[in-house]
Amino acid sequence: MSDFYLNIAVDTPLHRIFDYLPIKNSARSDYQIGQRVFVSFGRLKKIGVILNISSSTELSRKQLKPISQLIDRQPLISLDDLKLYKWAANYYHHPIGEVLAQAFPKQLRAGLTPTIELTTRYALSKHGLTLDENSLKRSPRQLGLWHQLKNADAPVDRDFFSTLDWNWRSPLKSMIEKGWVTASQEHNTATHSPTTPLFDPNPAQQTAIDSIAKALEGFQVFLLDGVTGSGKTEVYLRLIQHVISAGKQVLILLPEITLTPQLAQRFRQRLTAQMVISHSGLNDTQRAQAWLRLKEGLANILLGTRSAVFTPMRTPGLIIMDEEHDISFKQQEGFRYSARDIAVMRARDYSIPIVLGTATPSLESLYNVQQGRFKQLVLPERTAGASHPDIRLLDCRNQTLDNHLSQSLLKAIGKTLERNEQVILFVNRRGFAPVLMCHSCGWVAQCRRCDSRLVIHKNANLLRCHHCGVEHAIPNTCPSCQQAELFPLGLGTERVEETLSSHFPDTPVSRIDRDSTRQKNAMQSVIDKVHEGGAQILVGTQMLAKGHHFPNVTLVGIVDIDAGLFSCDFRASERMAQLITQVAGRAGREEKLGRVLIQTHHPEHPLLNTLITHGYTRFAKEALDERQQAQLPPYHYQALLRVNAINEQAVLNFLNDAKELISTIQAPLIQILGPVPAPMLKRAGRFRYQLLIESAQRKPRHQFLQQLLPKLEKLKSSRKVRWSIDVDPIDL
Ligand code: ADP
Ligand code: ZN
Ligand code: ZN
Repeated sequence: MSDFYLNIAVDTPLHRIFDYLPIKNSARSDYQIGQRVFVSFGRLKKIGVILNISSSTELSRKQLKPISQLIDRQPLISLDDLKLYKWAANYYHHPIGEVLAQAFPKQLRAGLTPTIELTTRYALSKHGLTLDENSLKRSPRQLGLWHQLKNADAPVDRDFFSTLDWNWRSPLKSMIEKGWVTASQEHNTATHSPTTPLFDPNPAQQTAIDSIAKALEGFQVFLLDGVTGSGKTEVYLRLIQHVISAGKQVLILLPEITLTPQLAQRFRQRLTAQMVISHSGLNDTQRAQAWLRLKEGLANILLGTRSAVFTPMRTPGLIIMDEEHDISFKQQEGFRYSARDIAVMRARDYSIPIVLGTATPSLESLYNVQQGRFKQLVLPERTAGASHPDIRLLDCRNQTLDNHLSQSLLKAIGKTLERNEQVILFVNRRGFAPVLMCHSCGWVAQCRRCDSRLVIHKNANLLRCHHCGVEHAIPNTCPSCQQAELFPLGLGTERVEETLSSHFPDTPVSRIDRDSTRQKNAMQSVIDKVHEGGAQILVGTQMLAKGHHFPNVTLVGIVDIDAGLFSCDFRASERMAQLITQVAGRAGREEKLGRVLIQTHHPEHPLLNTLITHGYTRFAKEALDERQQAQLPPYHYQALLRVNAINEQAVLNFLNDAKELISTIQAPLIQILGPVPAPMLKRAGRFRYQLLIESAQRKPRHQFLQQLLPKLEKLKSSRKVRWSIDVDPIDL
């Protein structure tokens, strides 16, 4: 009989830890905190992590089951990392079992223990090196490979050959068979020599680099606030070089998977590093390999999206988060964490600096600068000759519009193309048009499962709901009055693309949105085409606003800004200002002056004018003042109880019970607002309501939730609904 118990974080939505017995005849020394186990949980087999080994339990032995399997011999995660995951579970009031499961890549979560893959590397053998070139004359492909390998300064992997557009596999094989080429298996190490840029950092960059480099030995948060094209990436590169040559690792977090290849390529050119990449476009094996390599110290750079923030680092040196304001850093379902806040905690735990880079800092980060918690470093100017773009509003009132495009905008586009330069048009929505309407009776195509209209996708010939994904064929006649008088209302990227193609029939028009980039490499091929130069038009959604460098774009048009001016979300103005600034940053990145034209029916709008006349910094300052007066985040702390169910009454019943519960909790510093319907009451067939919990301080909010949640869990009415807590929600 064993005399110890395993306290296990099981991957379930319950807010507690579970006690299990060890496997029969196993010894206490077999178990360590941080090992994964399989347990039977109800009728299911679930993965869990040992959080503690204790000598007592509140349950009787008879109630306890032994674990089914001990997966790891050595702990998969260290005590330090466990500390971070526990902090996150506590701060977000999310079950620790789910937090831990989330921290693992899928294969590890499934209980697998992948070994780190070795890469085959090729080099000329002694014999191969001394080969007489003439003897290969008859086999030009072997000769080609021979030259390639001779010029390489170290063994190469398969990627090295992938630029060749002929079949190199069989000649390589024969050369190995002849003993001219050796193929060896080794840990993946970088082999090429990096390039150095021809320029020195400018004074602002140098100051930033020096300040951060001086602080590498401890925790500090830097907000690198630099306009688009001011050389932030250059600052990252020099710091990374510094950190990896000291034998330490760098974690770099990026917002969008579409950006990763470009940045990865830039890093590869500049750094001799063992770099691994992790984003949702990669397969499970690749993601698990990246995770393991960083953890084991076999990689020194990890470039990844949101969830990469959980990857353990063996020799942590620096964390960088690029485009820190980007909302994709907040997970919007399940475990609703902010990767930015977790990254900051992680840096604190590791005692290393973190750099948050952006051209449009989030109000949260600016607030932290004001409070003295973050240190701001400013790169005020664009590098090497590029000037700030000239931003203007186009008053659309009483103008003749051609599918929402004004004559002045069309004229400006025409002139730009005549100069053989390029144009970006930004449109808020993908698809052809957001509404299909009947001219004869006013019928509108609605989603049956959501409170939303179906979007016309002309290319796919479908009506689609952007909220639940449901698809219908586009009807020929009105389902309500049977007339054939259906017409599209409003605009999306497809419609702008079509309108421009008919206006400028000789100019290539490309579209970038989630539909057009669904296929692998689609994004890259558009980008390649843009870089070839020549007059071109790019139409796209905010995907276009992120980080790309298009040197020949001199005009950016923003077609429909007005919707953003009248949102009920208090963050809408911040988002819009960031978007305008980011999109504007695409214009005129090199010697040529960029112009930005914004179509609006509200040219007097104060926010738009502050932004355009005085820039983002001034806008952000005013927006922060407004937040303070209105007692909104970041000055106040919020949490949202979100509830949904197919049965609307079930939601209301649960919320009534919740309110009653709340009235029994002593919490003088807490305000409760609601319950109210979510901005979209019905989505995917489920009714959604929410309750806002607010406090001027963080701590009372935490204590309140700590009391509330266990009680909520026990409510009978909770079983008929899905509910979750969103701490620091970013969409209300
Ligand atoms: P950001 O990340 O702020 O948008 P980048 O680092 O991508 O800016 O820099 C924009 C361009 O300017 C890049 O082509 C980069 O190589 C170049 N660049 C960066 N720093 C300098 C510098 N000090 N002098 C000249 N060119 C620079
Ligand atoms: Zn009709
Ligand atoms: Zn829907």
